[in-house]
Amino acid sequence: MSGRHAVVVGGGIVGCTTAMLLRQQGWQVTVVERNIIATQTSGESSWAGAGIVFPLLPWFYQEAVNQLALEGAKLYPALADELYQETGIDPECLRSGMLIQPPFDAQAALAWCAANNVQASLQGQDLWLPDVLQVRNPRLLQALKAWLIKRGVTLKEQTQLLPLPEAEIGEQGTLKRWQTKAGETLEADIFIVTSGAWSFDLLKQTALSLEIKPMRGQMLLYQLDKPITNHMIYRNGFYMVPRKDGYLLAGSTLEDVGFDTSVTEDMRVEMQAKAEAILPQLKDAPVIKHWSGLRPGTPHNIPTIGQHPHISNLFLNTGHFRYGVTMAPASARKLVSLVA
Ligand SMILES: Cc1cc2nc3c(=O)[nH]c(=O)nc-3n(C[C@H](O)[C@H](O)[C@H](O)COP(=O)(O)OP(=O)(O)OC[C@H]3O[C@@H](n4cnc5c(N)ncnc54)[C@H](O)[C@@H]3O)c2cc1C
Repeated sequence: MSGRHAVVVGGGIVGCTTAMLLRQQGWQVTVVERNIIATQTSGESSWAGAGIVFPLLPWFYQEAVNQLALEGAKLYPALADELYQETGIDPECLRSGMLIQPPFDAQAALAWCAANNVQASLQGQDLWLPDVLQVRNPRLLQALKAWLIKRGVTLKEQTQLLPLPEAEIGEQGTLKRWQTKAGETLEADIFIVTSGAWSFDLLKQTALSLEIKPMRGQMLLYQLDKPITNHMIYRNGFYMVPRKDGYLLAGSTLEDVGFDTSVTEDMRVEMQAKAEAILPQLKDAPVIKHWSGLRPGTPHNIPTIGQHPHISNLFLNTGHFRYGVTMAPASARKLVSLVA
C-alpha cells in the first residue's frame, strides 16, 4: 500500500469517521483500538449513546458547538447511504423528528430555530422539530468497521497504546514512535488521538491543559409489542428514542464518577419513573437492557480538533462530550482538512 501513513488511536465514532475520510483521501490508515470496534466492553461512548443527531437544547450552547453539530447532522443522510450501499449494514438514519416538552424557553427556542433554518412549530406547549434525525449507534459502528475493512484500512484491535512519554518527542518536535501495552512499537507519519474519555490519560505528559474527563451516562432499553411513539421525545433533561423494530431507548444520566462503568439500581428506578411519566404505556413493557457509557466530558461541550502545539505530527480529535455522534462527520472533515 502506498501513500502517507496515519495511525488513529481509538475506534469509536470519531476515530472511525476520521479514518474513513483519511482513507478516501488516499492515506494509508491504521486504527488502533484497545477493545473490539463496534462492541461494548468498557464504557465506549459511541456504542452506548442514544443516536440523537441534534444538540438537544441548542439555544443553551455556544455558536461553535451548534455549528459543528448542525454541520454533522447535514452530513448524516449521505454518510448512512454510502455505508449501507458499500456494506449492506443499515445504520438506520431516520428522520423521526423530536418533540420537546415543557419546561423550555419557547421564545428562545423558536428564535434559534428560525435563525438556523431548523424547522420548528409549537404544538400546544410542545415544540415539534420534524427534521431531527436519529441513528442506531451499534449498527453505525458496524457499518463503519465493515467499510474500513473493505477499503483496506488496517484495524489493530485489542491493542492498547500506552500513555505517551515526553521522551518519544524528537528534537524537531515530531513523534517518532508510540508503544503499545504488549510491547509493540508503532510508527507513522501522523498520529491522531480519538480516544474519547481516555484521551487525557493518554496525553497527560504532553498535553497538560487538555480538559477531558469521563461523564457517565446510563441508559435503559425497552422492548415493546407495538410502537407507542414514532418520534423522539425530550423532557427536562430526559429523552426517549424509538427504534423502528419496537425497541425504545430511555435516558440518560450525567454522572461525574470517574471511569466507573457500573449501572445503578437507583438510577434505573429514577429513569423508569421519568419514562413512564412521559409514556404511561411503558409501565407494562419490560426493560431488557441497562447499560452505561463514558462521555468525553469537556467544559462547555467544546471538543479539541487540531494539531498539538509542540508536536507537529500529533493531532487531536476528541472531547465531543454530549454530541460526539452528531458532530463526528463534521469533526472528521475539520481534522482532515487541517492535516491536509
Ligand atoms: C448514554 C449516552 C448517550 C449519548 N447520546 C448521544 C446522542 O444522542 N447524540 C450524540 O451526538 N451523542 C451522544 N452521546 C455522546 C457520544 O456518544 C460521544 O460524544 C461520542 O461517542 C464520543 O466518541 P469518541 O469516538 O470520541 O469516543 P468513544 O466512543 O469512547 O471511543 C474512544 C475509543 O478509544 C479507545 N481507546 C481509549 N484509550 C485507548 C488506548 N490507550 N489505546 C487504544 N484505544 C483506546 C476506547 O476503547 C474507545 O473505543 C451519548 C453518550 C452517552 C454515554
